[in-house]
Amino acid sequence: MKVANQEISAVNLVKEALEKAHKYQKDYNIFTWINDEALARAAEIDQKIAAGETVGKLAGVPYALKDNFLSKDGETTASAHILEGFSSPVTATVVEKLEAAGAIMIGRTNLDAFAHGSSTENSYYGSTKNSKDLTRVAGGSSGGSAVAVALDIVQFATGTDTGGSIRLPASINGVYGLKPTYGTISRYGVIAMASSTDCIGFFTQQASDLNLLMRITAGQDRKDLTTLPDFYHEKPAEFDDPVKKIGVIRDFDNDAVDPEIRSALREKIEELKNTGHEIIELDMPVLKYALAAYYVIVPAEIASNLSRHDGVRYGFRSEKSSTLPELYKNTRNEGFMPENKRRIMIGNFVLSSGFYDAYYLKAAKARTLIIDEYNKAFEKCDFLLTPVGPSPAFKLGSKTNDPVAMYLEDAMTVPLNLAGLPGLAIPAGKTKTGLDIGLQLVGPRRSDRRIINFAAQLAGEASNTINDSLDINGESEEE
Ligand code: GLN
Repeated sequence: MKVANQEISAVNLVKEALEKAHKYQKDYNIFTWINDEALARAAEIDQKIAAGETVGKLAGVPYALKDNFLSKDGETTASAHILEGFSSPVTATVVEKLEAAGAIMIGRTNLDAFAHGSSTENSYYGSTKNSKDLTRVAGGSSGGSAVAVALDIVQFATGTDTGGSIRLPASINGVYGLKPTYGTISRYGVIAMASSTDCIGFFTQQASDLNLLMRITAGQDRKDLTTLPDFYHEKPAEFDDPVKKIGVIRDFDNDAVDPEIRSALREKIEELKNTGHEIIELDMPVLKYALAAYYVIVPAEIASNLSRHDGVRYGFRSEKSSTLPELYKNTRNEGFMPENKRRIMIGNFVLSSGFYDAYYLKAAKARTLIIDEYNKAFEKCDFLLTPVGPSPAFKLGSKTNDPVAMYLEDAMTVPLNLAGLPGLAIPAGKTKTGLDIGLQLVGPRRSDRRIINFAAQLAGEASNTINDSLDINGESEEE
């Protein structure tokens, strides 16, 4: 609680974050908007503290907000032309909770338009660059948030993960990225991509910081009827054995995965064995259907969610039209990125009466098999440890003309989204050329707190850095 204890002022913290944001923006293109008003917010917090008022656990902590979270600060564009000029009248529940705790948003971060992508190259505002190599991708879709944390502009940033958009950019920028159990954090006020897999989560530099953020933001929200009754604050019913059974999926150990990532996984396995954990090798053949099922189910939901953008209700409107149908058509044609259009077309196709059974229904059945496959795996182990993406950050532009190559980046992240499971990308070293490698811890539904604590245990973290007061086991943190 360095700010609350007046060791550092909120104004100084925010000033420093804003300076860094402006400094890196030119080269890395991290933000769609930098919030220079943040300083006034920081001054208010300093005044409250000076007046002896109580402040929240994140008092004065600067953070970055992925630009698909609605809030009254700045325009919410989802990095799409069609939302240009859109100022939201509502604020996302998660933003309200973070700000009630005293966090200060210093900028909105770049993403693939509407979060469709794995590299942040589908943004109307241009690509975000990788934190270690300006010629390479930041990962996506939450590339801006990952790079903002990796370059230490902010200690945490928000993300959305529909099929890997938090874990993938976290892994290729060397930071932690958590996709919680589906329904843990309210999606109210976050622009919908695919409602049955969308999750809200965070990027941090330390695993234990995720615990604090989850304690502040998890819980049921009557504005989002898919939120689960709060489970995050419950103390685990049984003793949580620090020695774990870790499942490793044989099916992911193949030539499609970069050799340096495979050896990082092997090293981590050895490290786990040497520290007393048990490794269990698993075959999970059904997971190979996940990518195909995802790229049917998700476009179907996208086609429906994006139908609201018609040039009448939000943001951009094409000037070229003289009739209402033309207005819809021209606005959508000019306003969406090519990848958005591709997904709308695929989605409407797989939902159409002649093809529904062959595609959508089949994908829905595959989804059930995937859920069963994970249930069976978690009878044998506590967590799974897998790669995140198949390769370290690739060169900008190298996959933009090949959508299938881009989709293959998601093969090991999307299965969790289909099953609603929590996943945490953890840093796991570097390639010979200095690019970041990440691995992913996966647990059963509602095991979020155990995953975070395990990652903190692996990293040897004892306490939290956001406010230096967090007990990672949460014992002294009950609200
Ligand atoms: N890369 C995946 C996709 O393009 C995931 C995106 C996301 O999680 N928002 O669909």
